[in-house]
Amino acid sequence: MSDDELEALVSRSDGWVIDHDNKEFYAGLAAERLLVDRCRSCGRWQHPPKPICPACWSTDIGAEEVAGRGTVRLWTVYRVFDPVLGGVDPAGARIVTVDLDEQVGLRLTSKFIGSRDPAVGDRVTTRFVDRAGSPFPVFVLDDGAEAT
Ligand SMILES: [Zn+2]
Repeated sequence: MSDDELEALVSRSDGWVIDHDNKEFYAGLAAERLLVDRCRSCGRWQHPPKPICPACWSTDIGAEEVAGRGTVRLWTVYRVFDPVLGGVDPAGARIVTVDLDEQVGLRLTSKFIGSRDPAVGDRVTTRFVDRAGSPFPVFVLDDGAEAT
């Protein structure tokens, strides 16, 4: 994806602020891939994106794809005005913070979609849904099937 294509996508998405450090993460979302920063010197994953590895202080950082599977560490219900929906969903959005399998402490927070509430310790996987014309990652219960 070129910078112009990324800018066009970002211009349709509310609330995304793209900078040098996070542009690969958002370009990944546009392609329905989770690209997370990884230190090329020591191999440590980090999210959100930062220009320096907090473990070895290397600036040799690059984005690599993660599987998007993990374990629910915490969750909450978030009730706020959603400009995409044009109002407040009375049921709120269930938000989960997930420990990704790639590394202890590597966490990603996003919306949870499922027929029941999530629980701490649930195994989840990433799915992409359409949000205002752009792919948006959500977590769903991992039923053991391979992610598609
Ligand atoms: Zn490092």
